[in-house]
Amino acid sequence: MRLYDTLTRSDRDLRPIDGSTFRFYCCGPTVYGPAHIGNFRTFVLQDVLRRTLEAGGMRTLHVRNITDVDDKTIRGCHQAGQSLAEFTAGWTARFHADCAQFGCLAPHIEPRAVEHIPQQIAMIEALVAKGHAYAAADGSVYFRISSFPGYGRLSRLDARELDLGKTQNARANADEYEKDSISDFVLWKARRAEDGENFWRAPWGDGRPGWHLECSAMIQEYLGDTFDLHSGGVDLVFPHHENEIAQSQCACGGHFAAHWFHITHLLVDGGKMSKSLGNLYTLDDLVGRGFSAMEIRYVLLGSHYRKPLNFTLDSLSGAREALAKLAKAARQLATRIEGSPRLDAVEFGPFQAAWDSLQNDLNTPGALGGIFTGLREAATLSGDAAAKALAGLNRLLRALGLTLPEAGASDDSAVPADIRALAEERWQLRLARNWAQSDELRAALAARGWVVKDAKDCYTLAPAEP
Ligand code: AMP
Ligand code: ZN
Repeated sequence: MRLYDTLTRSDRDLRPIDGSTFRFYCCGPTVYGPAHIGNFRTFVLQDVLRRTLEAGGMRTLHVRNITDVDDKTIRGCHQAGQSLAEFTAGWTARFHADCAQFGCLAPHIEPRAVEHIPQQIAMIEALVAKGHAYAAADGSVYFRISSFPGYGRLSRLDARELDLGKTQNARANADEYEKDSISDFVLWKARRAEDGENFWRAPWGDGRPGWHLECSAMIQEYLGDTFDLHSGGVDLVFPHHENEIAQSQCACGGHFAAHWFHITHLLVDGGKMSKSLGNLYTLDDLVGRGFSAMEIRYVLLGSHYRKPLNFTLDSLSGAREALAKLAKAARQLATRIEGSPRLDAVEFGPFQAAWDSLQNDLNTPGALGGIFTGLREAATLSGDAAAKALAGLNRLLRALGLTLPEAGASDDSAVPADIRALAEERWQLRLARNWAQSDELRAALAARGWVVKDAKDCYTLAPAEP
């Protein structure tokens, strides 16, 4: 498949460097509150990329971190009166439950920043030893951007902007900073009173790692110095990903990411989401208004990932109708299959154009359009041709991560699609013997009024007793 690459500004083929497994990294959530649907635009599109590669027969290795130490998580745990570990564990569980409802596959490896402090310290030591980093008087350590000629390539900072940063000899200590301050950035933050108990020992004094460093250190640990693809929302291009490239290439050598996949921001009601405007939606907010995670996922797929997507509540109603229509057409197609046809060839039949759209820069709106066009053609098919078409449709739906509502799903007695998806995700975790996460999802189901009972090789779902 072909995908646009932010670094070279061109569409490029995705092929695993090692010839067998496509190894990729996604910057994960900062766990200081619930993720909003903008965050989920990014996580859902990353999930569709992985699912599409897998549906095309490629093996993947998906690494996504949990940012559980930074300015925001430390501030949050103090406000909540909890330890950092307790505070971030709660929000991590919530994130996992939300992901499962959205039908996002769990990454193969999900490293947490606080569990990789020694690796981060080792990376700073390497950078200091090679002259790319220096300690300041207060015990903080900074990356010297003038020591890395490649700085600014990803985000196309021009020479004037870079010169300004160097001549001002500026330094940024906050975990996030704006594009107009191009400066040496912090690798190790000296301990401050407001950090409380949250500090670690290091050769430069007590402190904690800067935000940018954690991804570089965890990538080195799990993917090495050269890997297939790196991804996040567009806001991460600068400074976060620019800084990751600088740290990793200077400390480890290697090429770092062969491909950069950035998702454009979700807008709500035509603008940025904000608490003060009352339009910062989480999954729970929208479920509370009667919508399901699958309907939100459908809306998130309705716009190409490189274009802004304007989210409205009306678009969710449209998604509900579209999913119901799709489900009905798929059921009708199934009734026209006779016997048990042989499905040896991997074909998409009337859905070929939809699959081609996904292969062409992950064009999800093109794929959804192609599915509806394909369904009109499929309505004329029967027997083996209908069976092949249905298999192609199901493969596409798996690539998009869409679960269709069942007939009568709106009856009170039926299990809602998002609850079913959550239970299914839990069952997969159980099969993988991931007891901790599977228990988290059992609790999430219970919180939403559903009891899950496990048998030897299946499970049942029932509404909780009132
Ligand atoms: P955070 O938890 O803030 O680190 O963000 C998690 C992911 O969501 C990152 O990849 C961000 O780039 C992405 N993100 C943040 N806001 C939005 C938005 N409005 N639309 C799409 N992606 C976003
Ligand atoms: Zn990152």
